[in-house]
Amino acid sequence: MKLKPYIWIAGLTITTVGVVLPGNSQPTTPANTLFQTSTISALAAGVYDGDTNFQELKKHGDFGLGTVNALDGEMIGLDGKFYQIKSNGVASLVSDQMKSPFAVVTFFKPQTTIRLPGQMTYQQMQQSLDQKITTKNYPYALRIQGNFPYLKVRSVPKQKPPYPPLVNAVKAQTIFELKNVNGTLVGFRLPAYMAGVNVSGYHFHFITKDKKTGGHLLDGQLQNLQVEISKISNVAINLPKNPGFAQGDLGDGRAVEINQVER
Ligand SMILES: [Zn+2]
Repeated sequence: MKLKPYIWIAGLTITTVGVVLPGNSQPTTPANTLFQTSTISALAAGVYDGDTNFQELKKHGDFGLGTVNALDGEMIGLDGKFYQIKSNGVASLVSDQMKSPFAVVTFFKPQTTIRLPGQMTYQQMQQSLDQKITTKNYPYALRIQGNFPYLKVRSVPKQKPPYPPLVNAVKAQTIFELKNVNGTLVGFRLPAYMAGVNVSGYHFHFITKDKKTGGHLLDGQLQNLQVEISKISNVAINLPKNPGFAQGDLGDGRAVEINQVER
């Protein structure tokens, strides 16, 4: 049996997750628990190497987003499969041995479906969803399908040590303009009080239906959306146990930078 300590910041639970019984392939984390490795402020500070691999992440979720070590592109998890979308726009499955410096996952079990008819911008979609969400004090996981007349997504190039802060690394991002694509948006809406730990507000990654391309959503025209939502009341955070994280400058000054690069 392997025990790993995690910090639970919601529900005031101090416990351990990631308990793996020999021969037990069942998920070890309950549905609709948000599990993340490291923090967005660490990523903003240039901590691009984590020690959690995808074999471990899959024990905590079948759905989510983030990146992979060395900031080598955008990561998206959907239906138990995890993809890396490199800065050339090409999506491929990650291996179980690959590691992530920042990832947010959950076993997605939607409780509510909202339909948003007509065409809207990404901004308008966020406003419509905010009107329908009854409380903004919980995290939400969201899976969105529909028609996408236009999507502006990005990916980031692999970095070499010594790593620059995220605000500099993102200057070399590649932007892709996708027209009339089918696919799925995977994302979260997180309360403002989680800023620094994660991206507050909405954060989506997209992958096309053929799983060939996608990226971090920047803007778009979206049409006739089906938005599946689950409310989350448990958050578990696994912090890296490496010198990069230990020595990183994770002071509270990263909020402005995070807003610049993650919106
Ligand atoms: Zn992102």
